[in-house]
Parts: sequence; structure tokens; C-alpha cells
Amino acid sequence: MSYTGPDFDPPQQRRSRRAPMTFALAALVPGALLGWVVYEGVGKPGGDGGGRTDAAAPRSAPVSPGDDAKVPSPSPTPPLRGKVVLIDPGHNPGNFQHTSEINQQVDIGTNWKECDTTGTSTNAGYSEAQFTLDVADRLRALLEREGATVKMTHDGDKPAWGPCVTERAQIGNDAHADAAISIHADGAPEGDRGFHVILPAEVHSGAADTRPIIGPSRTLGEHVESDFAKVTGSAPSNYVGDGTGLDVRKDLGGLNLSTVPKVFIECGNMRDSKDAALLTSGAWRQKAAQGISEGIVSFLRG
Ligand code: ZN
Repeated sequence: MSYTGPDFDPPQQRRSRRAPMTFALAALVPGALLGWVVYEGVGKPGGDGGGRTDAAAPRSAPVSPGDDAKVPSPSPTPPLRGKVVLIDPGHNPGNFQHTSEINQQVDIGTNWKECDTTGTSTNAGYSEAQFTLDVADRLRALLEREGATVKMTHDGDKPAWGPCVTERAQIGNDAHADAAISIHADGAPEGDRGFHVILPAEVHSGAADTRPIIGPSRTLGEHVESDFAKVTGSAPSNYVGDGTGLDVRKDLGGLNLSTVPKVFIECGNMRDSKDAALLTSGAWRQKAAQGISEGIVSFLRG
């Protein structure tokens, strides 16, 4: 660092010069002006940490509350207050008992496909639907701690199956979510490892029109990709996305029908033994939720 030390810190010199002036002026100026002089002289809590920045910044009359005025607040506003996040836990543990319902065909704009699917599982039988619900619950807690309003497409009990992918998109749209994420884990051959984030392709067909959400969805996805890698230490997929950790698809109803920024994340490959060891660890799933949360927070804070 090039910081030269407190002895040569210009703002401190300025304060020490101004303090006596404050008391001299106090006898001369009434009311609000006195308040301002005292504030300028002594009321800058926390302002002496960044000497160089302080020295460069011009001081103006504190008519409107600026950053300095917010510092002493005992309960700062949570960063995501007023923001709505849609969490979509992929599949549903109940889908296995409702195959006829989830096999009904629904219109995703580009084509018709199944309402929902059972999802995959590890070789030992830990299901993707259990995994996605667990990560979703952890993510919800983290985002609510940041002040967000969180909507879930299902909680594993209600509804007992699905909902259909069309409805999963509609729930986020109706909530006017500022960000939406669908949580999954993949079912690829042994040796295929790592995570990837799926972005909506440009689709304009039937009820699907992703043109307004492509840009913000990519930004959301890049934040999630970066923070997920950082927090979990996982590498981007070695079988999708050419090492970028990003993929673009036009065959997913949950993306095609979304009118809000939305991505999917495949957190790992349940059919790979090394990835499965991570996905079945509660400690790792907490890291996964933390990585996703940080990506969403940084996207929403701009
Ligand atoms: Zn899935």
C-alpha cells in the first residue's frame, strides 16, 4: 500500500485546524448554521479511515443525507429489501408417484413437452428432487437474511407433484421477480463433472418471447457462475459449455416462458461418484446455496 501514515493524513490536519474554529464561530452563529458547523467540525464518524479519499473529495454543505449520514444507523437497511427472488427447486419428490400427471403435455412456446419430470438421482438413490429442495431451503434462508422477499414454486408438499414447467415460469412472472433461479443437478455419465448455469436462448414463438430477458438473464447467470465457483471451489462443467460454466438452451419451458431474468443451475453430476460425494454432503450444499445467494445479491445490487 502507498498509504503514508496518520502523521501525514491531510483530513486530520484539517480537523485539528477546524476544531477551535468551531468554538469560535459558535458564539457568532445561531440555529441551523451552528448545527452545520459542529457537524463539519466533529460529526464525521468513521470518516478518518480513508485519508486519501477524504483529502480528494470536496466537502459540501450536508443539506441532504449522504453516505456519511448513514454510517451511524444502528440497523442498516438489508441490501435486498424490496427485491423479489423466485426459487424453483427442480422436479418434486412426489413426481415418482404421479407419473400420469407429470407426463401430460404442455405448450412451452417452441413445442410441447412433459409437464414435469422425475429428475435423476445418485447411484445410491439420493434423488435430484431431494437435493434441489434442500439447496432451495438453504438459499431461501440466506436471501431472506439479506432482506429479499422469496417465492418458491413448491416446497415438496404443496403441490404434491410438479408444478408443470409452464406454471413454474408463471409463478415467477406473477411475482414480478427481480431474479429467478431453477435449481438442478445433472445425470450424465461417470467422469462428467462440474457445474454449469443455463441461460435462455432467444426464442420468439407462441407464448414464448425471451428477447426482453436475454440480457439481464446472462448478467444474472455470469454472477451466479462466478460466485458459485468461488464459494464451492467446484470447477465449471467439463462436458458442457467449453469450460465457461455457461450454456444456452431454447428447449426449457421454465426459461422460454419467463418474463423475468431467469437462469437454471446444474450444481453437479449426480451420476459421477466424485460429484455425488459433494452433492450428498450437507456442508457442501450449504456452500452451493451460499454461492448462488452471493451471485443473486451481486446481480441485484448492480
Ligand atoms: Zn433437473
